[in-house]
Amino acid sequence: GRGSREADRKVDSVCPYCGVGCQITYNIRDDKIAFVSGRDGPSNENRLCVKGRFGFDYVDSSQRLTRPLIRKEGVAKDGSIDFDPARPLDYFREASWEEALELAASGLTAVRDTHGPRALAGFGSAKCSNEEAYLFQKLVRTGFRSNNVDHCTRLCHASSVAALMEGIGTGAVTAPFMEAMNADVIVVIGANPTENHPVAATYFKQAVKQGAKLVVMDPRGMALKRHATWMMQFRPGGDVSMLNAMMHVIVEEGLYDTQYIQAHTEGFEQLRAHLAKFTPESMAEICGIDAATLREVARAYAGAQRAIIFWGMGVSQHVHGTDNARCLISLAMMCGQVGRPGTGLHPLRGQNNVQGASDAGLIPMVFPDYHGVGDAAYRGRLEGLWDIDLDPEPGLTVVEIVDAIHDGRVRGMYIMGENPAMSDPDARHARDALARLDHLVVQDIFLTETARYADVVLPASAWPEKNGTVTNTNRQVQMGRQALPLPGEARPDWWITQEIARRMGLGWNYAGPADVFAEMKQAMPSLDNITWQRLENEGSIMYPCPEPDHPGLGVVYGDGFPTASGRARLVPADIVPPAEQPDRDFPMILTTGRTLEHWHTGAMTRRASNLDALEPEAFCSLNSLDLRRLGLDAGAMVRVSTRRGAIELMARQDNAVPEGVVFIPFCFAEAAANVLTNPQLDPYGKIPEFKFCAARIEPQPAL
Ligand code: SF4
Repeated sequence: GRGSREADRKVDSVCPYCGVGCQITYNIRDDKIAFVSGRDGPSNENRLCVKGRFGFDYVDSSQRLTRPLIRKEGVAKDGSIDFDPARPLDYFREASWEEALELAASGLTAVRDTHGPRALAGFGSAKCSNEEAYLFQKLVRTGFRSNNVDHCTRLCHASSVAALMEGIGTGAVTAPFMEAMNADVIVVIGANPTENHPVAATYFKQAVKQGAKLVVMDPRGMALKRHATWMMQFRPGGDVSMLNAMMHVIVEEGLYDTQYIQAHTEGFEQLRAHLAKFTPESMAEICGIDAATLREVARAYAGAQRAIIFWGMGVSQHVHGTDNARCLISLAMMCGQVGRPGTGLHPLRGQNNVQGASDAGLIPMVFPDYHGVGDAAYRGRLEGLWDIDLDPEPGLTVVEIVDAIHDGRVRGMYIMGENPAMSDPDARHARDALARLDHLVVQDIFLTETARYADVVLPASAWPEKNGTVTNTNRQVQMGRQALPLPGEARPDWWITQEIARRMGLGWNYAGPADVFAEMKQAMPSLDNITWQRLENEGSIMYPCPEPDHPGLGVVYGDGFPTASGRARLVPADIVPPAEQPDRDFPMILTTGRTLEHWHTGAMTRRASNLDALEPEAFCSLNSLDLRRLGLDAGAMVRVSTRRGAIELMARQDNAVPEGVVFIPFCFAEAAANVLTNPQLDPYGKIPEFKFCAARIEPQPAL
């Protein structure tokens, strides 16, 4: 009963899962999380989803790493072993921190000194704090001495950020998602917020109840569809044709905002000419939405007093992901739907700190605050602050690093809290790369699928075990607090990074996260007027923040953009088909994504007992027509294969998935969806095409 769950202390913090950034209270009893309650945070107002409420016992998992590990002699990194993360001592021996750190650092130093700075690379984490992200990229840039640092933003919104940087000079949202409450028309495209940003979705539903019109655009039907005025279930890959057709209507019918276009944009005439050929009638067949609906929705968006656009991975994870985002930017700009309450462009950021990790510089082409590594003025300033010369050449991105390992250019890596063996496209290719490294240091809370290839494994802290700030999808910097002691000899991530830096000859001496944050403020004007002390007191402050006592600006760019000209740039987009089309051998379309219960590669949620009980088994979703055609019952085991590999898993009937498409969540290690996915990249954002490749489904062969 309730009595046994009563807390002996409470600690206020932030949810470790998605980019919504719900504020929570840990209710602690005997140094365990007894239960979690929602707080009245600016982006959740006491609400929580199932992950934020019930998803915490992963921290107590018997599989937590509690001592440093060093690979045993003779244990091959061939990936063929029947790997069991519960049996680390089959592959590794325990070591002291001193020995493990010494080996970690000396191995990295040896690669750098033998093969040059660019032979090293690092993946930081969107699950760690801002301070940890900042220290990680600083170590790569000043200790490894190159810009080969990246993180999972490359796999989620890199194309959105590329388009936003090009179009409006910033990679962050122009308005927090709560502005949906002030909108007349809300567009949600290529996102499934009910599952992936559940608390944000509650605001969208609430807005609809108050009279807003909701447009949902996605090849998959979804729960939000019930609340939609228009559900536009377009053909996979039909996004650019659909959006261009809508813009065609707006131009043809003169529904655009001439004043806004003249005052705040450039490139409209070129865009207008480009759009001429995209008539709704000619695009209907390509995108799968009839011309009348395209016209109706275009009129509704352009005619709204206030309209706001939200998008997710369905927009970004394509070889034309940047083009998709360009279309959304152009659509908003030509209608003047930015910079006022209830308007804006909002890429829904996935992980709890993917915004903050990007801001802090875990990106190979930019320093903190998105200053290009080639920007001599900012680089000079950073060289002064860090007292070291910096590489002016952009580093390699996630998928490029994997390729560079295969051809011998990259030979050593430090991976903190990321799991590329599960999250990279064409996972076998990625795993083979990890196995080839001369030296791999992995820092994590579990022996992940990536850690199995490590030479040294460093036991790190779970989110409730450390202090630090995180930045959510709304640009709200929020304070996370330590609620639990660290298990065994596990250490905070910032401490581990500092110990490696010291052993690579850097004289770091940060006393803790507050110290790091103070240095970040010198490198990052975006943090002006935001202090550690304020965050301690107020819990959440939005950037940009104009005054020392201001809560920060929600809606931005009412009077111009942070581009060279102060104007938004409209960039036309042509139709670029998906890189791999279905054919006779692989007649289906495979698309991947997340589930409500499981988080990304599942490292945490599959070890959270409540969540794993809700969704314990690897599955794919198929339309009943496809099941019938294959002669399968729902629940049957199937084999899904692509040109890159095959996995076997249960088939679930889900008619939200269109005929000819198979959807697979990428969280299940025993049937890893990314064994199947296509590593083809968007040329601008360098993001892989997770949302489309050719696949074949067969009944599982008899054993
Ligand atoms: Fe956590 Fe996101 Fe759920 Fe909020 S909506 S409780 S931040 S997972």
